[in-house]
Amino acid sequence: MVREKDLILVVDDSPTNLAILNVVLRDIYQVITANNGSDALTLAASEEPDLIILDIMMPGMDGYEICDRLKSNPFTRDIPVMFVTAMDQERQEAKGLALGAVDYIAKPVSPPIVLARVRNQLELKKQRDYLRRLSAIDGLTGIANRRAFEEDFDREWRRSIRLKSSICVYLTDIDNFKAYNDAYGFLAGDDCLRILAQAMSKALMRPGDILARYSGEEFVGLMPDTDASGAAIVGERLLGATRALSMPHSHSGTESIVTISIGAAVCRPAPSSDRTSLFKLAGDALYAAKKGGRNQARVFEMPDPVTAI
Ligand code: GH3
Ligand code: MG
Ligand code: MG
Repeated sequence: MVREKDLILVVDDSPTNLAILNVVLRDIYQVITANNGSDALTLAASEEPDLIILDIMMPGMDGYEICDRLKSNPFTRDIPVMFVTAMDQERQEAKGLALGAVDYIAKPVSPPIVLARVRNQLELKKQRDYLRRLSAIDGLTGIANRRAFEEDFDREWRRSIRLKSSICVYLTDIDNFKAYNDAYGFLAGDDCLRILAQAMSKALMRPGDILARYSGEEFVGLMPDTDASGAAIVGERLLGATRALSMPHSHSGTESIVTISIGAAVCRPAPSSDRTSLFKLAGDALYAAKKGGRNQARVFEMPDPVTAI
């Protein structure tokens, strides 16, 4: 999340301690506070702060438990946590670090030390976020890469099982692309991949739709909550968006412009279903589209698993 000032959540049951940390931090950072564990967890998930400063000793849920819960929730586990601890409490520090905390602030707090430690942790978080974003992007086309797709697929698959909704995976492959490279050169081929990736991304309408470069000239897409008729509509839209680019391909053998073939597979997954079989079915559909003459989309449906009555 991009914001003007980094957002820090301070959690402490003592109003005095909250006030002290607020005074130290508020000139540089945006500060929100919670005085108990359940408010802290709610705020952490809804506000996605850049850093959480946690008191250890609190009535009810203590700092360790809050930290443990933050780290086991995928939405909050990457937020760095710092503990506030009284002096001479090495055992406490070791326990907190084992739970995933990144640093400590000793009580009574020293403002310059608090500011320095907070700044360090926020800087490290920025670097981690940057690397994470970079490692999910395909260098040539700027869209998501295969690694990012695998993560999305896993997450969306499980979401579809939970919601009992259908999910569509599709593969697109450029027609006669070897001939394109041979005729126009590899650099022109790379340009074609870049232009096509952007055009296909734009053709996807829903915020949840995902497109990634799978390998060389193959792209893979994911559409949550999409059935076979929806997949067919999006398939036609992607074919149309590609043709609309009118990129000349005089050696295609299919058309005089660059075209793609699409294979889509749709299912309503059950807990026993295997997502690799849906992916494989998309490969079969792509093969059928190629066999059928290219420049077309095929949608295959995986039957619902038989459930015992
Ligand atoms: P088909 O219609 O059956 O898909 O034929 P095709 O020629 O596209 O298929 P094939 O798999 O034989 O060739 C894929 C070609 O894609 C091989 C290579 O020249 C090209 N290619 C793969 N990755 C890249 C890349 O990163 N950049 C460029 N410029 N070309 C690539
Ligand atoms: Mg290919
Ligand atoms: Mg190809």
